[in-house]
Amino acid sequence: MSDCLFCKIIEKKIPAKIEYEDPEFLAFYDIHPQAPSHLLIIPKKHIEQIGDLQDVDETLIGRLILRAKQIAKKNSWKDYRLVFNSGLEAGQTVFHIHLHLLSGRKMDWPPG
Ligand code: AMP
Ligand code: ZN
Repeated sequence: MSDCLFCKIIEKKIPAKIEYEDPEFLAFYDIHPQAPSHLLIIPKKHIEQIGDLQDVDETLIGRLILRAKQIAKKNSWKDYRLVFNSGLEAGQTVFHIHLHLLSGRKMDWPPG
């Protein structure tokens, strides 16, 4: 998607602090971190929101979560929170699926 911010990050047209990349996924640091460690892990496939996932995306979304786990382990982040916001009211601001990986502080529940 030419007007998608995260697709532009994937294409290296916009800079980001990249933590991990493979043919299918990219992980980079959130520009407005909500925790001492705050990564966004995205599929390179442009899907606007979790609500748009199809059955064919089952393994993709499973592997995305496994990547989050592997990145956390590599960084020795023992406890962490994984968050998907799907839709405006849920707080989604960038419409390319991204998994927030937050770590490094005590987190409240429920979120605000
Ligand atoms: P969400 O509100 O779930 O859609 O999350 C979007 C996230 O993208 C927010 O936490 C933003 O801080 C983050 N963000 C926006 N622009 C950039 C950027 N250029 N580089 C890194 N993170 C960004
Ligand atoms: Zn995109």
